[in-house]
Amino acid sequence: MKYRTLLFDVDNTLLDFDANEEESFRLMLEDMGETETGELYGIYKELNSRLWKRIEKGEITVEEGVNRRFSDLMARFGKTVDGPEWERAYRRHLNQGIQEIPGVHQVLGQLEKEGYELYVITNGVAQTQESRMSRSGLDRYFKERFISGQIGAGKPSREFFDYVKSHIRGFDSRETLVIGDSLSSDIKGGIDAGIPTCWFARGKSAAEREAELADSGLSPDHVIGELAEIFSVV
Ligand SMILES: [Mg+2]
Repeated sequence: MKYRTLLFDVDNTLLDFDANEEESFRLMLEDMGETETGELYGIYKELNSRLWKRIEKGEITVEEGVNRRFSDLMARFGKTVDGPEWERAYRRHLNQGIQEIPGVHQVLGQLEKEGYELYVITNGVAQTQESRMSRSGLDRYFKERFISGQIGAGKPSREFFDYVKSHIRGFDSRETLVIGDSLSSDIKGGIDAGIPTCWFARGKSAAEREAELADSGLSPDHVIGELAEIFSVV
């Protein structure tokens, strides 16, 4: 056993957030009496990512962005809709989404059986993340769940990882591993905090991995493409 304490990200590491977003979008359209024409989701994704870039630059607030993304989308089709109302419907579905990454129960169950200590490190609203963890049954594998919304700081900040370190009994960085899909939050956060890291590059080709790593300037200690590959790392 190389690592004893495993810190797992949740979204797109244990739960499939991409699938959740797509399903929530479809359910929201249903609620609103609209049907997916086959192109709406693709257009929405593009529009949404442009809005998030403006949010990151500080041009608009998160609230402004999310409250107008659906009215902006439908305006392209000549329809006037209540943006905040659509956002609330979307979020309701998103909060209930528990689509799992394939094999997640087998992997976490086996790790726990072999004596690893498992913790969750996630950015998000505490109530939402707790509810998704318990509804999916994933909460049972973890000794504790560290959620940014509860702590008041998130990955990749030092404050977040300092909090985690000080709340794990007998914490030792050398025996701990951060596992997550995000280079900018999980891997950067782990490296900055002096904790070994494992990048979960799900569904990415060797060329894509290389390009993203070069872009980020980060060097995780391990890279896996499937959750079950974690056994060859720990
Ligand atoms: Mg993630």
